[in-house]
Formats: sequence, structure tokens, C-alpha cells
Amino acid sequence: MHSLVPLFTLPTHVSIREVGPRDGLQNEERILSTHQKVELINALTASGLQQIEVGSFVHPQHVPQMADTDAVFADIARKPGVVYSAIAPNTIGAKRAVAASTDVIQVFLSASESHNQSNVNMSIAQSLVQAARVAAIAHGAECGFEAVLSVVFGCPFEGDVPIERVLELCERLLALGAEQITLGDTTGMAHPRLVQTICQAFQARFPQAALRLHPHSARGAGLANVLAALEVGVTRVDASVGGIGGCPFAPGAPGNICTEDLVHMLHEMGIATGVDLPALMQCARMLETMLDHEVPGQTIKAGMCQHLSPGGGPRRAVA
Ligand code: ZN
Repeated sequence: MHSLVPLFTLPTHVSIREVGPRDGLQNEERILSTHQKVELINALTASGLQQIEVGSFVHPQHVPQMADTDAVFADIARKPGVVYSAIAPNTIGAKRAVAASTDVIQVFLSASESHNQSNVNMSIAQSLVQAARVAAIAHGAECGFEAVLSVVFGCPFEGDVPIERVLELCERLLALGAEQITLGDTTGMAHPRLVQTICQAFQARFPQAALRLHPHSARGAGLANVLAALEVGVTRVDASVGGIGGCPFAPGAPGNICTEDLVHMLHEMGIATGVDLPALMQCARMLETMLDHEVPGQTIKAGMCQHLSPGGGPRRAVA
């Protein structure tokens, strides 16, 4: 008998940013009340999540689901040490974000010209100008400033996005003072090898920069892509409670990976997240009631492995 030798060293801890209250809810038809959002975010905080994307300061006409982000920030019970972030696309949004005492303001940019155009009706160059203005406001107010680059792993209009183009845009965003770059697989086109190639290219070019993965699972590869990223040293991952937030280009297909599925997998692997999984699963069930439909997450349906046998049952040790 020969033992299996792992090819990569996996991290001992993964930092999860919960994006359900923003990325998830903005794709839902039903608009939750401010009170419901606050209840959800407070429950997510209580589950031990350290980073929560609360909402976005976009024009309410564009995203009516996020119109009350100011009120949500005012009402949530903030836990010291937890980072409550939001998206601001322009100076108006950035000023609202500062007034709401947002911990981290994020800007969004697409890695492909046609996706940026269709998403925000602007060229990438124009978006970079907006990003610079948002950065100046965030820095002036001593707020954190981070950037999300979407369609990095494939664009529904242009197909593959050249890695050089991705790195060039990351360089521009880092030059604006972005403290973290999130690489987004907005339409679920990534696969594990591509994730490793692009993350390693990023790390080689910007060894000091903080890198986060925003995986989507429109074609079922979400958790495999997370594992691929962990194998090359990425320890920051986005996920959405209940797995809410469908793929904008494929109605009915899943979008964001599900936070409780991710936490379950990581804990089974012996990787810490700081999250109380049963409490998080309660959040997903609460969300089902609020939205009045099932959520895509699988762990709340199948149950935690360690609950399958009486007393938890004997489990093999994870190396
Ligand atoms: Zn997403």
C-alpha cells in the first residue's frame, strides 16, 4: 500500500466574505424590507463571519433592491472586528458610503470592454476615472478601499480575457490604493486550471497584494475552483448564504457559491473559518422564509455529515 502525498499545502484558515446581502439579494425579485435585511445581517454576524457585504450605493433606479443601503447600515448591530463593506460606483455613492460609516468601499470594473459597457454603460477607461474619484473619497475619509474585477475568467461577449489585460487592470487598481483585488468569475466560466493560472500570474506580478476569489458556480465548478485557489495559496473567498444570487446571463443557473456549503467542505477538510456552521445554516433557513422560496444551498437539505450518525459517529482524522 502506498500513501497519498498531497501535491499542495492547503491553508489552515480561510477568510470568507459573505456577499449574500448585496450580491445575492440584488438578484432576487422579491425586495426584502430594511428590517429583514438587518435581521439577516445581524444573524450572519452572530454566526461568526468576519466580513459582510452589506449593500451597494448605486442609483436606486438601477438596483431597487439596494435602495435602502443607508438605512441598513444605520440599523445593523455592528460587532467590533467585523468588516462591513459596500459597493460605490461613483462619487455620489462614495459620499453616501462614507456618511453611512462603511468600513470598506469597493469599486467594480469588468476585465472586458464589452462587459463593462453592458454592465455600467461606460468604457473601462471611464470606469477607472470613477474608481480614482471613489478612491480619493474613501482615502480622505479613512475608509478602506478595495476593487473587484469581474469576468476575469471568461466574458460572455468576448470569451477568454487575456491574462495580460487582467494584470494590467489590477496594476491600475492597485495604483489607486486598492488594499485588495477580488477576481470575479461573474458568469461561472472558470475551471480549476484557469483559476490556478490566473491566481499564480497575479501573485507573481504583485507578490505583496491581497488577492480574493469571487467564484460562481453556473456550471457546477464553484467549489472545485475554490480548492484550486487554496492549492496555490489564495485564502480569501467570497460566498453567499443559501447560494442566492443567480447568474445574470443564465436564468435559473446558480451564481454565487453557497457559504454554508463552502464552510461545510472546509471544516470537513480541517480548515478553519471561524464560522459556527449550524448558526449559519439557520441564516439560510431564515432567508428561505424571507424570500418565500427554496435557496440553492445543499447542506441545509442534506444535513451536516457529522450529524448523520448518533453522537456524531467516529470520523477519521484529517491530516
Ligand atoms: Zn457574485
